Amino acid sequence: MPEPTSPNRATTAAKIAANPIGYKVCEGCDSIVGSAASLCPNCHSYRFEASAERVIRQAHLLGTREQTSVTLQDLGS
Ligand SMILES: [Zn+2]
Repeated sequence: MPEPTSPNRATTAAKIAANPIGYKVCEGCDSIVGSAASLCPNCHSYRFEASAERVIRQAHLLGTREQTSVTLQDLGS
């Protein structure tokens, strides 16, 4: 179940990395948006990279921007 947006960037990043098919990365500004979005809410680009590898890599970047200890163990793999 999706939860309300968390202010904790690392937690959000971990959730995205655990479910990469639910997201895609904006090619204009590298924002992660929901897979259902047709336009980036930040830069209004309509070009996205939807591969799981790209989404996970970007999620890790987001998570490590604020703190280095992203709880990868909690991804439930
Ligand atoms: Zn964008």
